[in-house]
Amino acid sequence: MPQNRIQFQKGMSLDEYIDQYGTDSKCEQALEEARWSRGYACPKCGCTAHCTFYRNGKKHWQCRDHKHQITVQSGTIFHASRLPLRKWFLAMYFMTQSKTNISALSLKRHIGVSYPTAWLVKHKLMQTMAEREDRRQLTGRVVADDAYLGGVTVGGKRGRGAKKTGLFMAAVEVDEDSAVRYVRFDRLSNMSAISIKSWAIKALHSDCHLVTDGYSSLPAAASQIGIHTPVVVSPGQSSELDCFRWINTVIGNTKTAMTGTYHGFKVSK
Ligand SMILES: [Zn+2]
Repeated sequence: MPQNRIQFQKGMSLDEYIDQYGTDSKCEQALEEARWSRGYACPKCGCTAHCTFYRNGKKHWQCRDHKHQITVQSGTIFHASRLPLRKWFLAMYFMTQSKTNISALSLKRHIGVSYPTAWLVKHKLMQTMAEREDRRQLTGRVVADDAYLGGVTVGGKRGRGAKKTGLFMAAVEVDEDSAVRYVRFDRLSNMSAISIKSWAIKALHSDCHLVTDGYSSLPAAASQIGIHTPVVVSPGQSSELDCFRWINTVIGNTKTAMTGTYHGFKVSK
């Protein structure tokens, strides 16, 4: 049986990771290269003339015109953090190595911090990734379907345990070889044409070729904003059709990840 090229894609081993980012200075260097790959520019005045010096073991940059001083962490999510940079980087490594996510409790053990710190680090990193990806519009061939994520919270106090299900629009951008390039999950308040149209404006590039099933009001909403002619299939067929394979896989994997990572949460089928 041939290997699945996505499942068998090359990752970064822990050994390689430690070799590249195992110390604070290596992480600082990586951050410096990522932030100022085209050379330093003062974030306040934009001037590039500067000098550098060390204070309390930290490298500082000072612009020539205004004597404005910053470190490479200033103005980033690491700003004013007392957590060593190598632990932030290690958290990023663990959070991105598994498709099933990692709980704050596991992260606490892996990077050696308290639970509140692990929770904060995880949520700051997730928020940063969400904000960056929120701006990405899907283009080319896009397959979308509504998904219901949520379920029953167990082990809670009185009043909990009620079914809490959220409506999402799931969409995958696939390339010419039918491999997934990008995925979006967007919370929707309802499946009305207005709600779906505002989702389409935000999430889809106007040149995309949208594929949906026949249940949703997506085709009508999408056509109003100049999206390419959608391909509509008969209701109830989506799970059997190959073109919906990826969207069904993505929704299934998301539910599996939620169940596997957050044990106090039962995802409804
Ligand atoms: Zn300046």
